[in-house]
Amino acid sequence: MIPPIASKFVAGETPAAALDHSRRLNDRDVGAILNLLGEHYDEPEAAASDRDAYLDLIDDIARIDGDICISVKPSQIGLDIGETTFRENLEAIVERADDRGVFVWVDMEDHTTTDTTLDAFEDFAREYDGGVGVCLQANLKRTLDDVKRLADVPGKVRLVKGAYDEPETVAYTEKSRVNEAYQDLLEYAFEHYDGGIAVGSHDPEMIDYARDLHAEHGTEFEVQMLMGVREDAQDDLAEEYEVWQYVPYGDKWMSYFYRRVMERKENLLFALRAVVSG
Ligand code: FAD
Repeated sequence: MIPPIASKFVAGETPAAALDHSRRLNDRDVGAILNLLGEHYDEPEAAASDRDAYLDLIDDIARIDGDICISVKPSQIGLDIGETTFRENLEAIVERADDRGVFVWVDMEDHTTTDTTLDAFEDFAREYDGGVGVCLQANLKRTLDDVKRLADVPGKVRLVKGAYDEPETVAYTEKSRVNEAYQDLLEYAFEHYDGGIAVGSHDPEMIDYARDLHAEHGTEFEVQMLMGVREDAQDDLAEEYEVWQYVPYGDKWMSYFYRRVMERKENLLFALRAVVSG
């Protein structure tokens, strides 16, 4: 049972709880991106178990008429075990999702995984005609080249600032430099992409920048934010733009909640306030 303090950021322990939350989001005109919490498995059985959980979830989503998709972490479906395991599991998920009309996002983990993740994304996005999206991180110095590489690949790209502590050799470590890089990536994408851009950020400055670029170039985009973060802004933006909420669920909620609190101490106060005010 998830304590009320964590339930601002995690939809529940079961797929049923995640789907209930998704229905409520859809009623607010916000789409749901469901992520089963789990990462860094060393055993093929653990990766296969999460793969199977996603296959069942896809079947459940297909039975509902709603804006619901999934987002998968490479290391939860076998990337730490090997590239072959990861690709086989991802293909099983993408194949089922393609058959059921469900979109699949691939999260991005630390920089040592970028090439393998992008190669798999590109192959499956081409093979399954754009039913797949991938996350790219503005803090990595390589990312402008990756955004250029993906311009002609069907599917979607989620731009984020980057959640992993990376070495200075490969990443910008100053916040202001990451913000500058993020805006450069937005500029390139809005100028060269035919849509399929997801702005995965809570930062009003980045979102306003994307809105200005949309007004200038007409390129379609969507905004993505995490469950429990700037929920009011999600509703406001949904009046004008496509908005999706990333919704984690599952029994491994403790470390996810801890991360949200560590990255922004106000999240703890916010969660406490929500509990106190019911
Ligand atoms: P920050 O730089 O953290 O904050 C900038 C400003 O945004 C703040 O000054 C404030 O004005 C506002 N803000 C931020 N948080 C809050 C808050 N809690 N309450 C109120 N205002 C706030 N990272 C990865 O590495 N790989 C992934 O696959 C990945 N997927 C993601 C998917 C989604 C949908 C999202 C939203 C993020 C994802 N991330 C991922 C995380 C991302 O890389 C950042 O670490 C995270 O989003 C924080 O950066 P930010 O752009 O939101 O703004």
